[in-house]
Amino acid sequence: EATFVDPNISEEELESKFKPNTKLVFGEVISNPSLQILDIEKFAKAAHKHGVPLIVDNTFPTPVFCRPFTWGADIVTHSTTKYMNGTANAVGGAIVDSGNFDWTKYSEKFPGLTSPDETYHGTVYTKSFGKAAYIVKMTTNLMRDLGSIPSPQNAFYLGVGLETLHLRMERHYENALALARHLKEHPKVSWVSFPGLENDSQYALAKKYLPKGSCGVISFGIAGGREAAVQFMDSLTLAAIVTHVADTRTCVLHPASTTHRQMNDEELMAAGVSPDLIRMSVGIEDIRDIIADVDQALGK
Ligand SMILES: *Cc1c(COP(=O)(O)O)cnc(C)c1O
Repeated sequence: EATFVDPNISEEELESKFKPNTKLVFGEVISNPSLQILDIEKFAKAAHKHGVPLIVDNTFPTPVFCRPFTWGADIVTHSTTKYMNGTANAVGGAIVDSGNFDWTKYSEKFPGLTSPDETYHGTVYTKSFGKAAYIVKMTTNLMRDLGSIPSPQNAFYLGVGLETLHLRMERHYENALALARHLKEHPKVSWVSFPGLENDSQYALAKKYLPKGSCGVISFGIAGGREAAVQFMDSLTLAAIVTHVADTRTCVLHPASTTHRQMNDEELMAAGVSPDLIRMSVGIEDIRDIIADVDQALGK
């Protein structure tokens, strides 16, 4: 059971959303695909006040652009399938535990960590492993019992990808910012959302949490709505139409006709996805080629 809240929720309203059985607070540092930025400090403060950890998905910024622990998040998750791998050749994920959350303080909420695990000879994770309690439970229960572990070949691909992450993220951001600025001036584009744009609704949060860059993903609307968006997509030649995101190669998605097709317009809006929304994952190609492709497709 989950209680959904708007990331822009006020502190008072956020307080009122906690229930007696609330176990954790979860949010995406940059949401996919609506590109809202999580006010990590606000959510960490509220979570800790109610004795639960804040877990954040840092897939889009990566550790190159955001270090959520410094803002109070307790646990960070990543889809390594995205920027970390970089080239879409292996699926994977990671959980990073700061070790800062004190599970024993709210023992009754977390019996899986604070009471004996009979499948491991009565181990009490918090007693045996202290700050590493949560991550050891993940390693034993998720990796050993359930087999959530990458194959050696996939781990190798990820390792190779990580070696260039810092270079790729800079280029992704630089290219995305240039394209966002270009689209902003284009008559066929009705709106552009990118946290790096000075007048973006997320700019203030971006300055605080992502001062060196956010990611390469931008979203924008095509004048002419759903139909024009589909025509635009079909006219692209360099950008590939794929559901994948955060790849070295520029790729593009129209959620209303693909990933979110089961939703009506009202549900789409509630999910932060308008029917004309194009999500473009700007790659590391030469920016002149990316802009030329987008321009010729907009022309059609
Ligand atoms: C894709 C994605 C996920 C899911 O990752 P998979 O590796 O595809 O399972 C989770 N969070 C974000 C922000 C994503 O973009």
